[in-house]
Amino acid sequence: MSKRPDIQSLIDEIAEAVKPEFGKGKVADYIPALARIPGDRFAMAVCAVDGSEWRTGEALRSFSIQSISKVFTLLLALETIPPDELWERVGREPSGTPFNSLMQLENERGIPRNPFINSGAIVVTDAIAAHSASPVPHLMNMVRKLAGNPGIIIDEEVARSEEDHGHRNAAIAHFLKSHGNLRAEAHRVLHLYFRQCAIAMSAMDLARAFLPLANEGVVPSSGEQRFPALRVKRVNSLLLTCGLYDGVGNFAFRVGIPAKSGVGGGIVGIIPGKYSICVWSPELDELGNSHVGTAALELFTRKTGLSIF
Ligand code: GLN
Repeated sequence: MSKRPDIQSLIDEIAEAVKPEFGKGKVADYIPALARIPGDRFAMAVCAVDGSEWRTGEALRSFSIQSISKVFTLLLALETIPPDELWERVGREPSGTPFNSLMQLENERGIPRNPFINSGAIVVTDAIAAHSASPVPHLMNMVRKLAGNPGIIIDEEVARSEEDHGHRNAAIAHFLKSHGNLRAEAHRVLHLYFRQCAIAMSAMDLARAFLPLANEGVVPSSGEQRFPALRVKRVNSLLLTCGLYDGVGNFAFRVGIPAKSGVGGGIVGIIPGKYSICVWSPELDELGNSHVGTAALELFTRKTGLSIF
């Protein structure tokens, strides 16, 4: 499998080195379907722009991608609607507040700080819904094609659970609506948002799906220019500044690459021109980012000497 055994040995070594970090974080428990995932799971998958791939741990096991889906919806929105229309409704600054905060949204009159906090992602999902009669198939089609896996599905149990327990997200959606920053009915947008959060993918799927972001928008296997290079630069910039909520500064300090996390324990990172990397480990730090996953990515960039700095 491995064309470059150094990366294979490195990620195997990282999988060993992070073991003392287990038990220091906490698995997401806001819905039962996530709370019962064992905390000691670990996976790492790396794709290179030359087509090489490496994996370690449970890299083929699906997990709930949660907020990582916000990158897919942003990419979809940017090719569905005129970007200026979207950027009038959502900002591009780090929030410095928790991902599900309402406080800032109130102060800033219903314009979310960025597309990767919940309020911003709900606006992005609304923008997609306004331009597509069947947004979920549209999104799933994009995700499956990017990952090269037609078997990717939405975990219906997680989706239902999100819907049953999503009071804060419902508050955010209604608040956006009251400020005129939601076109569709709040319940319809929430239904879509909960479904996108419940997409189940493996670390390998995610690393493959994100590879064009490491390659100026080109899918290495086909040579297709899937996204314009300028859009990729901009999305990577947003990931660097907003991809890990209010933990983004510390993550940039420790790891130094654009990345996106989700409360399912996944983090996908981009080393432009080289690799897409996905790590999965469900125990989260107090800000909702994978504790072990962050440690693994920090080791990866330190040991390879590769980051964007
Ligand atoms: N479903 C979660 C929520 O909306 C996603 C948040 C996350 O992954 N940070 O609260």
